[in-house]
Amino acid sequence: MRTLSTSGAHDKEAKDLVKTEADQQEDHEDNDAAPMQGLASLPVFFDLAGKRVLLAGGSARAAWKAELLQAAGAEVDVICPDPGAGIVALAGRCELVHLTQRRWQPEDFNGMALAFGDFLAKDDAAAFYAAARLARVSANLIDRPEFCDFQVGTIIDRSPLVIAISTKGASPVFALALRGWLEALLPRAIKLWATAAEGWRAKLKVRAPSARIQRRFWEMFVSKALGARAPEAADFDALLTAALGESRGETQSPRAQGSVALVGAGPGDPELLTLKALRVLQAADVVLYDDLVAPEIIGMARREARMIAVGKRGYRASCKQDDIIAKMIMLAEAGKKVVRLKGGDPSIFGRGNEEIASLTAAGVSVEIVAGITAALGAAASLKLSLTERDRARRVQFITAHAHDGRLPDDIDWSSLCDPRAASAVYMGLRTLEALSQRLLAEGIDPFTPAILVERATCPDERRIFGTIADLPAKAATAAPSGPCLVLIGHAFDSASERQNEASRTVGSLSA
Ligand code: SAH
Repeated sequence: MRTLSTSGAHDKEAKDLVKTEADQQEDHEDNDAAPMQGLASLPVFFDLAGKRVLLAGGSARAAWKAELLQAAGAEVDVICPDPGAGIVALAGRCELVHLTQRRWQPEDFNGMALAFGDFLAKDDAAAFYAAARLARVSANLIDRPEFCDFQVGTIIDRSPLVIAISTKGASPVFALALRGWLEALLPRAIKLWATAAEGWRAKLKVRAPSARIQRRFWEMFVSKALGARAPEAADFDALLTAALGESRGETQSPRAQGSVALVGAGPGDPELLTLKALRVLQAADVVLYDDLVAPEIIGMARREARMIAVGKRGYRASCKQDDIIAKMIMLAEAGKKVVRLKGGDPSIFGRGNEEIASLTAAGVSVEIVAGITAALGAAASLKLSLTERDRARRVQFITAHAHDGRLPDDIDWSSLCDPRAASAVYMGLRTLEALSQRLLAEGIDPFTPAILVERATCPDERRIFGTIADLPAKAATAAPSGPCLVLIGHAFDSASERQNEASRTVGSLSA
């Protein structure tokens, strides 16, 4: 389990943060922890080009295996007395697949790198497996884990990059679902980068004989390969120049490579993280995270990444904003890819402009990754729309928390009282009573629905339904401790009615 460092112990941490990957590897070599255990099976990527593979069976799934094996370059000897149409067709159109119509014999194992068998009867499978063992050929009997020396994982093919998933036969459906999920996350151009890597490896050895420079080249390569764009021929020279420049001590290079991304982590539910946020997070060397960000999301960073909590909740002892900015600049200048993980969306009440301006002024490259803001998460979770054709033509996000912690004085009250507006009030719990009083004094309809949502989209989300007049008292009784959003407006009439309906039902049931 990764240890999370807090923002204390600054100096030592700052040194640790600029450690190279190689330093970290050495740290690992020094460590005397117990050796890893319990690995269900060892994934091995077998080079089958030009090798022979025996396949006994003629079913559709045997045909699929044959197709996979020939795709990996194997000569496939299919032996089966009564082959199905699929395998006959495959043998007809693929010169690596040779079909022989007879029963298999022990001699068929001679010269085989691997053997596969597909039999209906268990005894037939057992006999084939025993013959394979005798011939010392590793075998896989399709769908019979008890007769398998190895499993073929579920494959994601971005050749030369190949990803295989195995549940050791526990649940192939699970492995397939996982494949879909991973497919969605893989950067689109990853195959092209993997292909480029193949071509560049030999070239790099000639142009940069030092192992250290080569390693730096590949580190910088990775940060590009995990990005959105496809490789270009010029990338090789650019990466090589940067790696060579760093080795000559030209300080511009690491600075040019370091960066900061302000990343929206969404309102809480880890599934509301965007694919882009996940990709950027997983490429980060250092992650500075707000205390509103869910632990599951923090856990999605690379194991090697340094994690720093920079909690900044109003009214609490906190890391100063200037310190956070200074730290981000220091890390980026040391060549680190820094992610500043923020609750919701970075552009909503997150002091985004301050951070962007300071980082830009320091010459640090900045990227912003949008997230789902709390109001949108809360609306989805309450199953309501923030706009409605006649009742809510405008949505406004406001904060009811001024610099001094009080209700701001300079809010456009008439826009909040507008019966055709929906308002989402951020940081509005402490000032809720004052807000309610003020809006009533400004002439808002006292029956305007007001909903307080605590920890929207989190498993322990709570909602308090009321009106702008009675919500403060209800909230005081409930005493929420998590982040709270207040939704105000007639757009929420239907949600309030649904709620009243539900509580009447509960009431009559318990009566
Ligand atoms: N950038 C964030 C907002 C930061 S201000 C965003 O886009 O959501 C912090 C305030 O956001 C909290 O005081 C609370 O009002 C609101 N908030 C953030 N997460 C929330 C959640 N899960 N549920 C309810 N309110 C939330």
